Amino acid sequence: MGSQEVSTVDWQGKHVTVAGLGVSGIPAARALHERGAVVTVVNDGDDERARAQAAELEALGITVRLGDGATLPPSTELVVTAPGWQPDKPLFLAAAEAGVDIWGDVELAWRLRGTNGRKAAPWLAVTGTNGKTTTVRMLASILQAAGLRTAAVGNIGVSLLDAVLGEQEYDVLAVELSSYQLHWAPSLRAHSAAVLNLAPDHLDWHGSMEAYAADKGRIYEGNTVACVYNATDPATEDLVREADVEEGCRAIGFTLGTPGPSQLGVVDGILVDRAFVANRQKQAQELAEVSDVNPPAPHNIANALAAAALARAFGVEPAAVRDGLRTFRPDAHRIEHVADIAEVAYVDDSKATNTHATEASLAAYDSIVWIAGGLAKGATFDELVTGAAKRLRGVVLMGADRALIHEALTRHAPEVPVVDLDRTDTGAMSEAVEQAARLARPGDTVLLAPACASMDMFTNYIKRGEAFADAVRERAEKSA
Ligand code: ADP
Repeated sequence: MGSQEVSTVDWQGKHVTVAGLGVSGIPAARALHERGAVVTVVNDGDDERARAQAAELEALGITVRLGDGATLPPSTELVVTAPGWQPDKPLFLAAAEAGVDIWGDVELAWRLRGTNGRKAAPWLAVTGTNGKTTTVRMLASILQAAGLRTAAVGNIGVSLLDAVLGEQEYDVLAVELSSYQLHWAPSLRAHSAAVLNLAPDHLDWHGSMEAYAADKGRIYEGNTVACVYNATDPATEDLVREADVEEGCRAIGFTLGTPGPSQLGVVDGILVDRAFVANRQKQAQELAEVSDVNPPAPHNIANALAAAALARAFGVEPAAVRDGLRTFRPDAHRIEHVADIAEVAYVDDSKATNTHATEASLAAYDSIVWIAGGLAKGATFDELVTGAAKRLRGVVLMGADRALIHEALTRHAPEVPVVDLDRTDTGAMSEAVEQAARLARPGDTVLLAPACASMDMFTNYIKRGEAFADAVRERAEKSA
């Protein structure tokens, strides 16, 4: 089958087991049931919410088994799983043994696209350890500026299934894909795709760095126009080399330096394209100014270049790249400037939940009071601290694994003052901000970039960021 063709599966009477009630499981079960499949949903949990959701599906004629996500119903011909389910679950082992295919939500969306009488829009896909959401939103903004009907979908905003089966017809989709989703998407063939960066994350799920990289690399399989890689992260280029792509598909690099042929990069504060031009040996096309990128932090310029590369691969004109970047506004809690108080900037990057993201965020400022800590998820902090030591005015630590960061600071930045907050109550963030303010000097940035997950103290990174922003605003009001 040609890579961008729409597949036809006869769902009538097909026994499909949907693993996991939830954001992807429920729409999957409904869509398959509507197409005539005999659907059974299995779910580990059996709480009140699950029962209410089960009742709704059962009313349609879908079988739901709560409290047992491990056993494969005997007649199963296909398993459709929620992306987060770990590959070594007994259900999957049983499926593999029985020779039953396992699809994730992305695979299902890919297979069902174009089956509702609407055009199957090509996908421009983005993955990476960090920067996915930002890049996909930038890309959607650029595509919109070019007058294309598009949406940012996948891990964010609209669910993929809703996007491919909804009323709205799209010219192209900007798709964010996690490593879990890619793991379960064997036949996905994007028009063009980008891997932004590759750093250890979710290794408990994938089993090893190699397996994690291999799953990310799946995004390049069957690309037709461009495989976009990070020229400063050789692991991403390796994945392009290993991918089996369509004839004529090109490898396109992005770099914060001067671009070589077939790359996008930066020259004298200008984002330039030396890939999608008539003569790439001699010619470069100006796309936008660095100041058009929001915020113009180095890692975010890299995200903008990746988004621009995908848009250019799709044939978007340079002016639309510039306009799309200009109108793009970052999501909350991603290097979000909250306030300036006494010539100190307060920035919320609560979304920096791993060391790789925090490294990028610490690299964006010259003199920092760093607020960090939470759940380390098995990470080590030596490299992070070593790289940032010179720029740290002081550090405020909180959360369950703060001692790990403290130890790294003692080893690599012994002269940097550290405040260790031994409290986890709701007032902890206020005190962290107060201590940070005490350490800061005019011109400094107080940066919440925890390098850790938030769940030891907060519901999620959003609540953590809000607690920070509230504490900062309260301070700003008092000092006004
Ligand atoms: P994702 O969707 O991959 O989690 P986001 O765009 O939501 O990515 O950004 C997550 C965090 O990663 C942010 O806190 C930001 O500081 C950091 N980040 C964003 N882009 C990059 C990048 N290209 N390299 C490293 N870190 C990044």
